[in-house]
Order: sequence, then C-alpha cells, then structure tokens
Amino acid sequence: MEFLRPVSWADALAAKAARPGAVPIQGGTDVMVEINFDAGRPEALLDLNPVRELAEWDVAEDGRLRVGAGVPYARLIGELGDRLPGLAQASRTVGSPQIRNRGTIGGNLGAASPAGDGHPPLLAGDAEIEVESAERGVRMIPAAEFFTGVKTNALRDDELIRAFWIAPASGPQYFSKIGTRNAMVIAVCSFAVALHPERRRVGTGVGSAAPTPRRATAAEEFASAELDWTGRRPLDPAVARRFGELAAGAASPIDDVRGTAGYRRHALAVLARRTLTWAWNDYVAGRRVS
Ligand SMILES: Cc1cc2nc3c(=O)[nH]c(=O)nc-3n(C[C@H](O)[C@H](O)[C@H](O)COP(=O)(O)OP(=O)(O)OC[C@H]3O[C@@H](n4cnc5c(N)ncnc54)[C@H](O)[C@@H]3O)c2cc1C
Repeated sequence: MEFLRPVSWADALAAKAARPGAVPIQGGTDVMVEINFDAGRPEALLDLNPVRELAEWDVAEDGRLRVGAGVPYARLIGELGDRLPGLAQASRTVGSPQIRNRGTIGGNLGAASPAGDGHPPLLAGDAEIEVESAERGVRMIPAAEFFTGVKTNALRDDELIRAFWIAPASGPQYFSKIGTRNAMVIAVCSFAVALHPERRRVGTGVGSAAPTPRRATAAEEFASAELDWTGRRPLDPAVARRFGELAAGAASPIDDVRGTAGYRRHALAVLARRTLTWAWNDYVAGRRVS
C-alpha cells in the first residue's frame, strides 16, 4: 500500500485527482479500524495531517465559522464550545479522550455513518460542507444533502472535504444521545435541536434512526409555528409532546444489536421532547434577563 503525504491543500487535491482510489486519512480513528479488521485494503492512503489549512478555523466575511476538516473534537470543544454549544455537546460524547484528540468532524463526514455524533448538530445548525477538487474547484453542499445512504456521502472520487461552515449559535442548542452505556458507545439514537430566534426557526437533526442522519422537518415546522418567540411563556407540554411524536415520525429505524426500531422511535420522541424543553427554558430565562 502506498502512503501519500502532501504538505499543502493544493498538493492534496492534486494527489486525489491523480489517485482517486487513495483513501484520505485524518485522525485515522475510522480508517485504521477498517484496515486493522481487514475490512478492505486501500491501494493508497492519502495522509492529510501535514496539510495545515485543514487544522485551522476562522470567521468568514458573512459571520459564519469556517472550520477546517482536520480540527479534532478536543479543539472544537475547547476553542468553539461557546459558539457551537450543540456540536460541542455532541463532541463530548464521542469515544474517549484519545479518540477526541485524534478524531475530526471531517472524518465523521467522510465516514458518513448514520450514527456519527457530529451530524445531528450540523443538520440542526444548517451547516454547509465545503468540498473541493483540483479540476472543478469548490462545491458547497448543505448538510441535509450531504448524506446519500448508509455510510455514503455526496463526495466525488476526486474531491476532499475542506471545511464545514456554520453560523455561531444565535439561540440555545442541545444534543442528546442514547447508548447502551455512558461512554465509548455508538448511539442507539440521538437528537439535536437548535433554536434560531432571528428566523423564528427550530432546527433539528436525527441520528442513528434511519439510513442517513436527517432532519425532522415536520417537527421543525410545527415547533417554529407554535412557539411564542417573544419568550414570555414556558413551553406548552402538549407542544413538546407533539414535537417528540413528529421527530420520532421522521425516523425509519431498524432492529439491530443496539436496539429495536420500536425502542428507537420511543427514545427519539423522549429525546426530542427533552431537548426542546431544555432549549426553550434557556431561551425564556435569557429573555427575562435581557
Ligand atoms: C474507540 C472508538 C470510539 C468511537 N466513538 C465514536 C462516537 O462516540 N461517535 C462517533 O460519531 N464516532 C465514533 N468513532 C468513530 C470515529 O472516531 C469518528 O467517526 C471520527 O469523527 C473520525 O474522524 P477521523 O479524523 O479519525 O477520520 P479518519 O478515520 O481519518 O477518516 C474517516 C473517513 O473520512 C474520510 N476522510 C477523512 N478526512 C477527509 C477529508 N478531508 N476529505 C474527504 N474524506 C475524508 C476517510 O477517508 C474515511 O473514509 C469512534 C471510533 C473509535 C475507534
């Protein structure tokens, strides 16, 4: 197996164009597991670690954060936790400290597992994924269009993920995950909610309960219309309950070793109801203070 080691983004794109079969490796926390378990032997590995641009984040002209695909979870939590609380909360549930030091959202997106914990907050926060090829340049893909099937994504053979773009939180955000134990666990199901008060919109993301991570659009539309955005009233329990039911309705789960489809639907309804309640309580408290 060949090991390609470009030192700049331009070189990385050129290497991917020349060797579309080369498998990118960032933290390696998915790639190395696959290789160690003999799940496939790539013709070449394309090591992106020396590409410094991927390990940086900045604030773009439109105010959104542009976070390099190679920024590990530990830095997301430490450096961006205040601006991206939902994503930071999800990042804290990923693996162990070792995995969070190596693993990245870029790798999570590359693996495109339905259970990837980074995905629901990206969906709830209306993120876009910046991908690039040497031949065609940059493409911006909304997170909701990025996942195309079980462990497949919209990347073409000659493309690499450069960054994800997401607005800093304008309202409360929460992520919640059910696992068979507290840490080092693949989600049985997960749910993210983000309030966008300036647009009077509720964003959602459902994880591990369908072939791909997805938004719960009916739940979003329902809550966006029902909530009293002046923030004067607590959340009506009937609204929270209905939001949960609609979120569960967005799932198309399967029975597997981690849980049954029926349990996943039930758990999602509970997660959605709880996360919306936490977010709304924060929102109302914030309006009272300001
Ligand atoms: C013990 C353990 C526990 C884990 N726990 C969790 C967990 O709780 N939640 C969770 O979501 N995941 C978990 N994972 C999976 C893994 O850590 C995450 O998916 C992580 O985000 C992968 O990031 P990485 O940088 O290590 O990716 P890598 O392994 O380097 O790459 C993953 C995939 O993305 C592709 N890729 C990487 N960078 C790019 C790029 N810039 N452009 C195009 N493609 C790219 C690779 O080719 C590969 O297909 C766990 C893994 C282990 C080993």
